[in-house]
Amino acid sequence: MLKFSKIQEIIPEKEISLLKNISNMGHEDIIYCTDTETNLKAIIAVHSTKLGPGLGGCRMWNYESNLAALNDVLRLSRGMTFKASITGLNLGGGKAVIIGDSSKDKTEKMMESFGEFVESLKGKYITAEDVGMTTSDMEMIKRKTNHVVGTPKSMGGSGDPSVVTAYGVYMGMKGSANFLWNNDNLKGKKILIQGIGNVGKNLIQYLQKEDAIIYINDINNEKIEEIKKQYNVSELNDIDMFKEKIDIYSPCALGATLNNNTIPKLTCSIVAGAANNQLEQEGVHDIMLKNRNILYAPDFLINAGGIINVYAELEGYDKKEIIRKTENIFNTT
Ligand code: NAD
Repeated sequence: MLKFSKIQEIIPEKEISLLKNISNMGHEDIIYCTDTETNLKAIIAVHSTKLGPGLGGCRMWNYESNLAALNDVLRLSRGMTFKASITGLNLGGGKAVIIGDSSKDKTEKMMESFGEFVESLKGKYITAEDVGMTTSDMEMIKRKTNHVVGTPKSMGGSGDPSVVTAYGVYMGMKGSANFLWNNDNLKGKKILIQGIGNVGKNLIQYLQKEDAIIYINDINNEKIEEIKKQYNVSELNDIDMFKEKIDIYSPCALGATLNNNTIPKLTCSIVAGAANNQLEQEGVHDIMLKNRNILYAPDFLINAGGIINVYAELEGYDKKEIIRKTENIFNTT
């Protein structure tokens, strides 16, 4: 049975009050969705629809608690508002999280059930893929709603957005280099990519062409070995990545890697990566970076390639315009 709940029904008010920012973030809608038949547990957060419908991917993750999932979706959806706005797209900000292990818990029926929830919001929220979700999941969701983008190219969709996201991050990195060093050439620069998933591995290709010195870090050893076979890269483990002097740190895994523990140990001059919500706490960790003279390229600005790519599905623009808009990330940075 599909059921919408108030967030207070699943998370005690006392715990919600721990999320100090919940009321100041200004969300328009926070919806908890459950379906007992398909085991779906999801939260959809619509932050703003002022500039257009709230578009943002759906993340499937094995959160340690409902509160952790709520915290994530609130911050991610607000980031989408910033991202669409700074990129000049007629979109608001929204995001969804499905609570569960995408490698074990995901089923076709669960995806369809999520699609029904998205449909019931009547276009206020448009979903897409994010960590733990794929273009074929979008295909299943599309059986129940048209408010979905990022479907496979075979269905007329824009396909996997991560190539364009990586290109945008590359543009943001060059924009940051230009700002700091008066030269956007990355030849010989030492760059650490943390997280060599869909975005990270595409980023390697752009950086390799420019003869950057590339370091990689990932929790998945198989991926490390695979990438080492394909590209001229060196691995840095979690300890060595804070010992080696590098020029650019590119967080391309999950969020909150810029925190009290890591910032004092950073050896780089620039942080420029794809991961959403890199700062554990806004207003604290951005200041810490500034005080250490480290230039930070805001994640919501330089990882906008993906949203530019999926927005083409709604607006009907072509590949050339996608590239033009993505290259403009250099100027905005
Ligand atoms: P992905 O799941 O394909 O890759 C993430 C990689 O990070 C994996 O290889 C994983 O093993 C690794 N990882 C996870 N935790 C780690 C840790 N603690 N240390 C080191 N490595 C770790 O995801 P993706 O699509 O490449 O996206 C990467 C990030 O960029 C995410 O935060 C995502 O939200 C953001 N992003 C992605 C897109 C896109 O188009 N895919 C668009 C905008 C933002």
